[in-house]
Amino acid sequence: AVTALTLAACGNSDSGSDNKSSDSGSSATKGKVGVILPDTQSSARWESFDKPLLTKAFKEAGVEADIQNALGDKSKFVSIADGMIQEGVSVLAIVNLDSATGAQVESKAKAAGVKTIDYDRLTLGGQADYYVSFDNVQVGKLQGQGLVDGLTAAKKTNPSIIELNGSPTDNNATLFKQGYDSVLDPKYKAGWKKAGDQSVPDWDNAKAVTIFEQLLTAAGGKVDGVLAANDGLGNSAITVLKKNGLKVPVTGQDATVGGLQNILAGDQYMTVYKPIADEANGLVKLAVALLKGEKAETTGTVEDTEGKRQVPALLLPPKAITKDTVKDVVADGFVTKADLCKDK
Ligand code: BGC
Repeated sequence: AVTALTLAACGNSDSGSDNKSSDSGSSATKGKVGVILPDTQSSARWESFDKPLLTKAFKEAGVEADIQNALGDKSKFVSIADGMIQEGVSVLAIVNLDSATGAQVESKAKAAGVKTIDYDRLTLGGQADYYVSFDNVQVGKLQGQGLVDGLTAAKKTNPSIIELNGSPTDNNATLFKQGYDSVLDPKYKAGWKKAGDQSVPDWDNAKAVTIFEQLLTAAGGKVDGVLAANDGLGNSAITVLKKNGLKVPVTGQDATVGGLQNILAGDQYMTVYKPIADEANGLVKLAVALLKGEKAETTGTVEDTEGKRQVPALLLPPKAITKDTVKDVVADGFVTKADLCKDK
C-alpha cells in the first residue's frame, strides 16, 4: 500500500501499485463494437487511459471491438465511422470532436441500423441510444472549490483569477464552466477579481500557451490563481507562469501523469480524477445491452439542449485530488509510482 508519495521518494523501488487481477472468461457476445476517440493533443487521457482500459474491458466481456483515434481531424472522424459501419459494427461509440460532426455520424449509423453511444461527450442534436460519462457539472464544482481552497491556503484576500476554459464546441466544457462558475461567481460578487476568461479552441495546449500569455499581459502580468479546465491547459498556464516568475494555485482535470507530476512538484494545486476504468466498463455494459437487445442500467437521463430530448445516461462520480491524495490515484491502479517518477 502507498502511504505517502512525493517526488523525493522517486528513488525508492516500491512500485506503489497493486496491479489488479482481471477476471475474464465470460462467454463471447455476438456483434462488433466500434469506438472513435477524438485526438491525442487535447488530453493525454484518450491514448494513455481510455484506449488501454477500453481494450481490456471489451476483451474481458468477450466483445470484439475496433478502437480508433480521429487525431483531431473531423473528416477523418467521419471516414473512420463510415469504415466501421461498412465493416459491420452493430454498435458505434463516439467521443465527438464537435456536436455537428457527431450528429452527422450518428444519423448515418442510424440509417444503417447501427446503434450509437456517446462516450464521455454528449452529442447535441444527436441520436445516441445511451450516454456514459462523469457528472461533469460536479467536475467543474470540484475545480472551483479546489481553486478556492488553494487561494484560501495561500491567504489571499480578494484574489484575481484567470479562467482558461475548454473547447467551445465540447458540451463538457460548457458543463465544467457551469460547475466552477457556480462556485466562483459568488466570490466575484464578494470582491474577488476575474482577470481573464477565455476558451481554448479544441482544448489545444499549444494555443493555450499563447492565449494565457495574452490574458496575463492584459492583467498587468499579475494573477493569484488559474482555473484551468484540464491538466493539459493547466500545464500550458504553468509554463507561462514560470516564465514570468509566478507560482500560484492552478487547477486541472484527468489525473494525467503530467498533471500529477505538476501537483507533486507544487506547480499545480489540484486535479480531478475520473476513474476511466469505470467509464470504460460502463460503455461495455451499455454496448452489450444494445447487442443483446436488452435495456441497460442507467443512473438517469441528461438533457440534449439542442435536440430537445432526454438521453438515458450512466453518470459516474469524479474525485478531487491534491498533493496529499495523489497516492489514492496510485492505489487505485490508475497510474504507477514509476509513471510519476518518469521524466516529463
Ligand atoms: C473530457 C476531459 C478532457 C477534455 C479534452 C473532455 O470532454 O471530459 O476529460 O480533458 O475533453 O480532451
